[in-house]
Amino acid sequence: MKALKTLTIFTLAACMCTGGILAEEKKAEPPKYTEGSCCDKAQKEGKKCDHPCCVGAEKDGKVCKKCNK
Ligand SMILES: [Zn+2]
Ligand SMILES: [Zn+2]
Repeated sequence: MKALKTLTIFTLAACMCTGGILAEEKKAEPPKYTEGSCCDKAQKEGKKCDHPCCVGAEKDGKVCKKCNK
């Protein structure tokens, strides 16, 4: 039983470790605007896209999928 318990703890630790690495990779990814999209143009002008759909997506830390395919 002792060996099984150790194995369970090890598996849990491995799962948590993998999850942490994945979350970090996701966080490090910068928002990508599609070339020529409304957001891309606004960013190049030093502004932020004022489309309601894009503003809403940015609030969630995402990029508008409607405009940036
Ligand atoms: Zn936009
Ligand atoms: Zn949009």
